Amino acid sequence: MSDNYLLEKHGFKMQKKYGQNFLTDVRIPSRIADGCTDFDVSEGKTAKSLILEIGPGAGILTKELAKRFTKVLAVEIDEELIPILAESLADFDNITVINQDVMKVELEPLLSQYRQFNGELLPVSVCANLPYYITTPVLMKLLEQYGQFSFITVMVQKEVARRLCAKPSTEEYGAITAAIGLYGKAAKLFDVSAGNFNPKPKVDSSVVKISLYSPEKYTKQQIEKTSKVIKAAFSMRRKTLVNTLMSLGGTKYNTKESLTELMTEMFGKATVRGEELSTEQFVELAERLF
Ligand code: SAM
Repeated sequence: MSDNYLLEKHGFKMQKKYGQNFLTDVRIPSRIADGCTDFDVSEGKTAKSLILEIGPGAGILTKELAKRFTKVLAVEIDEELIPILAESLADFDNITVINQDVMKVELEPLLSQYRQFNGELLPVSVCANLPYYITTPVLMKLLEQYGQFSFITVMVQKEVARRLCAKPSTEEYGAITAAIGLYGKAAKLFDVSAGNFNPKPKVDSSVVKISLYSPEKYTKQQIEKTSKVIKAAFSMRRKTLVNTLMSLGGTKYNTKESLTELMTEMFGKATVRGEELSTEQFVELAERLF
């Protein structure tokens, strides 16, 4: 039974408020799921991993993930999709669907429970065609609230993908780019044109894979301090760091003069802006400030 047939049979209406643009051609989810693995699925192998999928929709990507990984845990906010998923995923015994808002889920207890497998703990990764209205908050929640993902592979709007993978001193580089660098490295896998979705969105998409550092590159404390500096640095993009960092409380440098001196010492000029600094430089700056 095709997903379209099931959606029609259940009288399902796409909900704009949930960012519902479903993939229509199975070749795309198959490529996304392949992007999460390091082997050819035609070899009949499955990777020993738990995959967290956010927003399974009618299950087109969920099925491809279930063919390649030990277990799939799919979190879907729209209760209308739950009976549809039960039918479309009926052939798989390694998928669990839960009806929840991913922004309200407590990741640690949920994943600790589902990653148990035959007395072992499975590595955990994320794969999702993300609802566009919450791309950045979802990514930040995943990175901030669960330190144990191997990778996060997500389809996002093309411009967002450019931001996630940007280099310093480019127009696309922003707070989210620098913040991702605290946890891992982002790389674009491939583009997907708008015609592959129903309903067709206004813009094209890209699939991005964030490979998390293992072991972690920075300590919890470094991440906390640096995140504050990144937030302040990009709060007013056009302003220099001397100006934006004045608003940061609790630092050793709280006057214009002392910040000017620090910027000149660290970066060779007093007029340096946040968009010019790599994640590593933000970490060094946070170490000096706090
Ligand atoms: N994975 C499906 C596909 O590729 O065809 C659907 C992707 S669609 C872009 C986004 C999905 O995320 C929808 O099923 C939507 O209902 C779900 N969703 C939206 N907001 C959510 C949230 N806060 N928590 C969990 N799921 C959410």
